[in-house]
Amino acid sequence: MLTRTREDNRTGPRYFIWTIGCQMNKAESERIAGYLDSAGCRATGWFSDADLVILNTCVVRQSAENKALGTLGLLKGLKDEHPGLRIVVTGCLVDSDSKDLSRRFPQVDFAFRPGDFRELVEWGHDEAGLVGGELRLPETCSPCAYIPIMQGCDNFCSYCIVPYRRGREVSRPLEDILCEAEQLVEHGAVEVTLLGQNVDSYGHDLPEGPDLAELLTQLEGIDGIARIRFLTNHPKDINPKLIETVASASKVCEHLQLPVQAGDDDILRAMRRGYTVERYRELVRTIRRHIPHVSLSTDIIVGFPGETETQFEHTCSLLEEIEFDVVHVAAYSPRPDTAAARELEDDVPSHVKKQRLNRVESVQADIASRINSQLQGKIVEVLVEGKKKGRWFGRTRSDKLVFFADAGDWLGRLVEVQIDNASPWSLKGQVSTNS
Ligand code: SF4
Repeated sequence: MLTRTREDNRTGPRYFIWTIGCQMNKAESERIAGYLDSAGCRATGWFSDADLVILNTCVVRQSAENKALGTLGLLKGLKDEHPGLRIVVTGCLVDSDSKDLSRRFPQVDFAFRPGDFRELVEWGHDEAGLVGGELRLPETCSPCAYIPIMQGCDNFCSYCIVPYRRGREVSRPLEDILCEAEQLVEHGAVEVTLLGQNVDSYGHDLPEGPDLAELLTQLEGIDGIARIRFLTNHPKDINPKLIETVASASKVCEHLQLPVQAGDDDILRAMRRGYTVERYRELVRTIRRHIPHVSLSTDIIVGFPGETETQFEHTCSLLEEIEFDVVHVAAYSPRPDTAAARELEDDVPSHVKKQRLNRVESVQADIASRINSQLQGKIVEVLVEGKKKGRWFGRTRSDKLVFFADAGDWLGRLVEVQIDNASPWSLKGQVSTNS
């Protein structure tokens, strides 16, 4: 969860942005903050200090939706005490009928669909008395910046609410993205991560039809960018040109997020994923042939309707076979409007889902421990993102989280770290004498 805590000395209304969910939501919250800053608003550290609260919500999983609804309940109490408080909701809780949300939750003053910032600006001008605001990036940014390159998804996987809430795929023009990347570098970014629900489809809806590989190649030419990442890929759409570009472009990190979701063909078919386990295996073989030190992350859903013990075991076997660096696992929960919710019975009991989730986590902890222990004693390049409890932290090109203690100021710098301790989730080390 991202909460915006920057304090400053402006004099306009105080705002607080509460964000949950994916990197796309976090990137959009940064843009909302940029707009509010430019309209003279002041960031504050908590709900109770704010005149304006923005909730940037996620409903991809029931648990995330519950948190958003719980926060809306909390805000209702706050608004009863402070009737001047304005509450704005965005993110995937907002469906095509944003007025419906304000009807269901009368404490909400305004709701807008994810990424529809022009609506926010109009509301800010017409209803909230914000003058002079413009859509722009925040004045300073983290060394690691996110750039949404497209909105929406055309895939309609049977369990997924995203196409219903974020709509069909719409790509941003290539020039806009390059221009934003240059601005981000001016504001302090060293690494950019391109975001989209299905980045492999980037550009198919643009007149000149640029693709992701072309975008990566052009970004490579921007001075000041040291690293480029992108997510999320779809196994049915990732193509040889992109794999070759990742292999050859020096700034593009050797890390791919490639959600497999399940290791059983019947479940994959019911999920409407558009590939088989064998096709996925072949894809991983191709990627590893071209990018030998690639690190792979994946997503798994356990307890999809009808998933038997045997089918679940197929998933565990695939994890053992492929040995992903990172696995994000979630228990299935039916999402409104989706084909799975409409057509399939949610028949795997919740205690079984929990057992399967724990099993995947334990299988993966062993695998990640084996992979990460190979880095013990090695020197890795880390881009330093910040400091936590007195230790610097950052990531390797392969997206491993690294902590180290050092008196120097390393924020936003690339540093060589010698690893002396590896766990399944992170690495610890010290600045190498080469740095
Ligand atoms: S590819 Fe599937 S899971 Fe991913 S956002 Fe699109 S519909 Fe959802």
